[in-house]
Amino acid sequence: MPGLEDLYKEIILDHYKNPRNQGELSVPPAIMEEGFNPLCGDEVKVYVLTDGDLIKDIRIDGQGCSISQASASMMAESVIDKTLEEAKNLIERFKEMMSVHESNMDSEELSEDNDENSLGDLQALKGVVKYPVRIKCATLGWNTFDQIITPGE
Ligand code: ZN
Repeated sequence: MPGLEDLYKEIILDHYKNPRNQGELSVPPAIMEEGFNPLCGDEVKVYVLTDGDLIKDIRIDGQGCSISQASASMMAESVIDKTLEEAKNLIERFKEMMSVHESNMDSEELSEDNDENSLGDLQALKGVVKYPVRIKCATLGWNTFDQIITPGE
């Protein structure tokens, strides 16, 4: 039986090789923010088109390591067609997952938190928590997206 970590690795590689929602949107009406992670050299541009309270379209453009690009792709796939409120909630939960307890990095326990089951494939990124230097890679797209939908923070 393949380990959970292998499965997660496959999900991340799949998003890296076949990024979802890749490209650009015209600004305006879309809003664009850029994010950089100088630690790793990751760049990401997030384009968001809203219709009232709904995230009608989201596109990701960028380059960098597999974790940064896969995470942004997974984010785009998770928030499209969601409301702003739902997206903010997902950002919260994702960041929470990525900030888990540095003292408790036992990989066996990483997959058993019920709260996070609803994150679906996003859980694949949880293993990154074990490599603190890569956490910024995983959260780059999310923080950039957050800047768009939560202006002024
Ligand atoms: Zn990176």
